[in-house]
Amino acid sequence: MALKTSWVASANDPDSDFPLNNLPYGVFSCGGGRRRCGVAIGDSILDVSGMGPAGVFDAGNWNAFMALGPAAWADFRAEVTAILAEGAAERGLVRQADAQLHMPFAVAEYTDFYAGRHHAENMGEMLRGAKSLPANWLHIPIGYNGRASSVVVSGTPVRRPLGQLGQGRFGPTEKLDIELELGAVVGTGSAMGQPVSVAKADEMIFGFVLLNDWSARDIQAWEYQPLGPFQGKAFATSISPWIVPKAALEGFRRPAPAAPLPYLREVRGGLYDIELSVYLGDEQISRTNATELHYSAAQQLAHHSLSGCPMRTGDLLGSGTISGPTAGTFGSLMELSWNGEKPLKLANGERTFIEDGDTLTLKGHAQGEGFRIGFGTCEGTILSAINTPDWAR
Ligand code: CA
Repeated sequence: MALKTSWVASANDPDSDFPLNNLPYGVFSCGGGRRRCGVAIGDSILDVSGMGPAGVFDAGNWNAFMALGPAAWADFRAEVTAILAEGAAERGLVRQADAQLHMPFAVAEYTDFYAGRHHAENMGEMLRGAKSLPANWLHIPIGYNGRASSVVVSGTPVRRPLGQLGQGRFGPTEKLDIELELGAVVGTGSAMGQPVSVAKADEMIFGFVLLNDWSARDIQAWEYQPLGPFQGKAFATSISPWIVPKAALEGFRRPAPAAPLPYLREVRGGLYDIELSVYLGDEQISRTNATELHYSAAQQLAHHSLSGCPMRTGDLLGSGTISGPTAGTFGSLMELSWNGEKPLKLANGERTFIEDGDTLTLKGHAQGEGFRIGFGTCEGTILSAINTPDWAR
């Protein structure tokens, strides 16, 4: 794999997130104008709203295009590649610095999984006192149905949630946290009552984003038994604004660990070698890789459909928190500060959990030879909680 050169000079910079090899899909507007679909190239955006089958981009998001399926995705990608390749006629582009980015797709439903083995072991040690996995974890991709309504694009501020922090305790969460995850975007759906194979599930996936599953650990700890996460994770989930096409990541596939049952067995490697990092302000607080996951998005999607649950265009699947094996590679502050017992020492003071005004940023890229397939950033700044309403006092 080598850099594919473009007539857009900034796209040929080896540190650019958006070379010709990538061509991720986003939605932008300029000066408060209408939302248009675009493809990132270097420091610019190619407006594609007049391209593709008639009307496919009229809604100002990628959903209708996603529903067209893999053959249409490949044709379009080839067309955009030809337009932007070195030697092609130059045309007008929008500078990313002049554009505002929006949600790239309408989220149909959001499901969050739990496929980070080190994360699951760490949570077990902190919550149950033993570095052990739940008995079912190596057999089944654990997940829960989350909220599509609170999925927001990077840059959207996040309000500190109110909640029950324990028996009789009410107030703003005191343990606000991040979860470093990848989000898989489902392009084509499946029929109710019809399970899909891992190979078919892989074909249904359109692309990937960075995903921050904001979490309130005190609310979560009090509520999660017996039915799993609820309000501790329902208040906000942030995603990066560019959907990186699965096609751009083909060269970075890696196998997932062996699956216990045939219906979960992979045909192609469904994990990806993507370097990930977390920043608090300007300071990097963690670094890891998406190959730390135990189940691929395709396996999770296949498992999700096993009961006959229909998948839909625009479904979003969170991978689960991605943690490496050692401190400094963990994907949450809960782990990085060991539930607040070991504060992180930062340039501007110590941190256990997130404070008001903090900006948390996820970054990610797959590293090729002389180029990278970048995801851009997924960031959010924390606003203080609302004043407790009179009716809640
Ligand atoms: Ca999560």
